Amino acid sequence: MDGATVVQAAPVLILLGPPGAGKGTQARLLEERFGLVQLSTGDLLRAAVAAGTEAGKAAESVMKAGGLVSDEIVLAILADRLAEPDCAQGVILDGFPRTTAQAEALDALLAESGQCINAAISLDVDDVKMVIRISGRFTCGTCGEGYHETLKPPKQKGICDQCGGSKMMRRADDTAETAMARLDAYHVQTEPLIEYYRAKRALSCVNAMQAIDRVADQIAKIVEEKTA
Ligand code: ADP
Ligand code: ADP
Ligand code: ZN
Repeated sequence: MDGATVVQAAPVLILLGPPGAGKGTQARLLEERFGLVQLSTGDLLRAAVAAGTEAGKAAESVMKAGGLVSDEIVLAILADRLAEPDCAQGVILDGFPRTTAQAEALDALLAESGQCINAAISLDVDDVKMVIRISGRFTCGTCGEGYHETLKPPKQKGICDQCGGSKMMRRADDTAETAMARLDAYHVQTEPLIEYYRAKRALSCVNAMQAIDRVADQIAKIVEEKTA
């Protein structure tokens, strides 16, 4: 497979990066700009936990401790979501794959329908920045827009810029204690994917320490190039 030259009707993009790199923030901007569907395994898992499904029960303690949920659970949840009709317009995978086994399973799943990934975009940030970003992160409980206490506060304190909602939520795993475990999981289990996608000539890297708009513009250029 040569991801660098593939052209297909429904783009498949991957956002790679440690927790706090800006994957969710950028995925939402890509949804708006390119009409793609954001598919976040973190969001799907949190929904499974909230719904109390078998998968959610198995995932909850692992997520709280900052580890990675088993490939089996994550793959089942992802395959179900990918099969939904809206995904036919193209997807941005946010937080998936996170292990080599997941990346291989994704390639196999896409191959079944004659697809492959257009680009894997690595959002590069240093470890110190990542801890600052996740420890100040919160989200609008109504529309899902992401914020940060100092880096991206809403214009009016406590009120969502996008939907006017006032129910702001913090994630149970966004603590200084889990930050280290999550970083470890990233470096040990997920970072090898950078070489995996480089070898397939599908990798693009963006300096994600820049302002949100600048990162977004650079990602947009990559998407335009890889889906043209
Ligand atoms: P972040 O935005 O901080 O990178 P996510 O919302 O993507 O975090 O994921 C939250 C947690 O959900 C992870 O720490 C992990 O426990 C679990 N998780 C999400 N995606 C995956 C995946 N692809 N494989 C295994 N675990 C996952
Ligand atoms: P991820 O999905 O990779 O875990 P998020 O998109 O949730 O990361 O971003 C983590 C936090 O950092 C959020 O509070 C977000 O508002 C903020 N953030 C994201 N990108 C940037 C950036 N380029 N500069 C400053 N803050 C950012
Ligand atoms: Zn909102």
